[in-house]
Amino acid sequence: MDLGDTESSSDSDDFRTLENDENDEHEEATVPSESTFDLTLPTTHSYLGHNLKELRGRTLLDDGIYRNLPLLVKHSIILFPGQTLPMKVDGLQTINMLQNCIQKDRIFGVVCLGDEKMVRIGTTAEIYEYYDGDLGVSSFRLKAKGRQRFKILRVIMQGYDMISANVKVLPEVTLDPPFLDYRLASLDHLRIQPTNEQEMKQQEFVEKIDSIITPWPAWIYKQYDPLRLSWKIRQHLQFLEQRGGNIPKDPIELSFWVAQNVLVDDNERIDLLNYDCAIERLQREIKYLIEDRSFVCSHCDAFIAHQSNMFPMSKEGLQSTYCNGVGDIYETITVYHAEGLKLSTHPPSTEYSWFPGYAWTIANCKNCYSHMGWKFTAVDSNLKPKSFWGLTRKSLKNRTNKKPNDTTEGQLL
Ligand SMILES: [Zn+2]
Repeated sequence: MDLGDTESSSDSDDFRTLENDENDEHEEATVPSESTFDLTLPTTHSYLGHNLKELRGRTLLDDGIYRNLPLLVKHSIILFPGQTLPMKVDGLQTINMLQNCIQKDRIFGVVCLGDEKMVRIGTTAEIYEYYDGDLGVSSFRLKAKGRQRFKILRVIMQGYDMISANVKVLPEVTLDPPFLDYRLASLDHLRIQPTNEQEMKQQEFVEKIDSIITPWPAWIYKQYDPLRLSWKIRQHLQFLEQRGGNIPKDPIELSFWVAQNVLVDDNERIDLLNYDCAIERLQREIKYLIEDRSFVCSHCDAFIAHQSNMFPMSKEGLQSTYCNGVGDIYETITVYHAEGLKLSTHPPSTEYSWFPGYAWTIANCKNCYSHMGWKFTAVDSNLKPKSFWGLTRKSLKNRTNKKPNDTTEGQLL
């Protein structure tokens, strides 16, 4: 059996229900207050092996450029700039495509296949480590990083499993601070880059005076200020920073980080990938974050976890992409508490574990038996947390418990 073996089975002998396991329920109910786990370990994807070759340098495509890109089309994989994509590939056509990329500029496109239709927007992935070794014996393995968004103009089929496309690399639009043209020079000595709540209030005071000579009230400008939008989002995510998460400060990086880490619905994520400007992404993400969201089984709607049960087990965030021994790629969310799951009765395994020191056990939905993810349990008794859950993003969907007030941005901010 391999990590990610979906093993959908209704045979109750093979699975045990979480609620029947008193120890599990007791352990999972509290936020893990201390961690002895090195959060940088999962980011190395060491299960792919330690003999990968490193590729140096970085290719940055010009904004707006037209070019041909080989494509990797995957169900429910939506790559964002900054996201790591680990891969283990056995198909010869795909291996050839990736080897060609390595010979050229190391870039291919990743596009989501949703409802049997290819999404017309994607993200370039740049290969930074690979191992091709003896292909007769082992698979082609690589790590790539999401870089730039692109729009598909024309798809070119080059045979089974070989797809490329003419694409346009999309620009990231950045706007000047909203008050730039109206700023009162006499107030310049009071302007600061706020790093705490008090400084933010001081800055708001200055901007309020600036706005007096503009046609609109200050709160209108606030909703187009990337620094303030980022500040608000970081306040919502403070609990994650306290649990060891590494949340980007730069508004553009943050907007992609939230899209990758916090949301689970494909459509929401594709919408965010479509925006050309971090301000639009951050505005929408704030609305998502103020909702009290739950994760339910994507097949039967059974409740699984609250969004607030998420916690980081990787320096990269709450949701990272991993690949299993047979090459399946899973975007995996880590939560410290989950309900409505059945665990496989097979003994926990450390083989190909994405979290070194933890053994995995397959977890299915108790209601419909769909594969939901894995329970990870510490092998070493000194390792904390003792256990947690890795849930696949495609097994979950969002359920909004409370609609945000139909409100002005003034209230949101
Ligand atoms: Zn279900």
